[in-house]
Amino acid sequence: MKAGRNICGWLLVAIALVCDACIAADEAMAKERQAMVAEVAAMARDFHAGTAGGGIDAHVLAALGRLPRHEFVPSTLRASAYENRPLPVGYGQTISQPYIVAVMTDLLRVGAGDTALEIGTGSGYQAALLAELGVKVSTIEIVEPLAREAAERLRRLGYGGIATRIGDGYHGWPEQGPFDAIMVTAAASHVPPPLLRQLKSGGRMVIPVGPPFQTQQLMLVEKRADGTLLTRQLMPVIFVPLTGGH
Ligand code: SAH
Repeated sequence: MKAGRNICGWLLVAIALVCDACIAADEAMAKERQAMVAEVAAMARDFHAGTAGGGIDAHVLAALGRLPRHEFVPSTLRASAYENRPLPVGYGQTISQPYIVAVMTDLLRVGAGDTALEIGTGSGYQAALLAELGVKVSTIEIVEPLAREAAERLRRLGYGGIATRIGDGYHGWPEQGPFDAIMVTAAASHVPPPLLRQLKSGGRMVIPVGPPFQTQQLMLVEKRADGTLLTRQLMPVIFVPLTGGH
């Protein structure tokens, strides 16, 4: 009886120690995440990327501060999850640099109740950031296993409201559109006309345009109320190419 109580006692101590370690690890991650957000905010202040006032909207920064990037990278890279750089996510693809994710999100000027289409789900991180802002998100990924993993991850992390699809995003998702905002997170040789058609009047699209595996230009396309397009070239970027047989 006494031995049994002792075992229970030690078990409780062990559980308490494990819990303490988990809480400490969570706190360390949260600290790293806040440092990453501060770095992104400072970079955006220093570098005007066509964002209002050169800084990133406080809502976007707050959402970035809530998002557990370590859940979106392979477990072997968790220690690097809050470094402000792209990381490989398998199948030759990458999760974008947090600074670029923040700038592109900011450029869309979306908020609660807006609709957005993302081309290139990848890890699901960008889609989750938009969902954190209250946006109704649809996202398309061409690499089937990545799409499946991202859909499962998004559900597990509480982003089950995001609509996911496997396919060539060049053609968009007309049944879900038209959209207030469209974000392409792979580099295209040109702005896909189907995506322009699925953008609402007054809507905004961000897309890297340029040759594969070389510097591309981040473009902002605005569809004015009368349907005409205003296109601006904002900054040099490097994205993986938009693939598919389109
Ligand atoms: N937004 C992602 C990172 C994008 S990396 C994130 O937050 O993690 C670019 C992604 O675009 C890759 O996963 C790649 O497989 C995908 N992709 C490339 N061409 C595509 C196409 N035609 N349609 C849909 N997805 C495409």
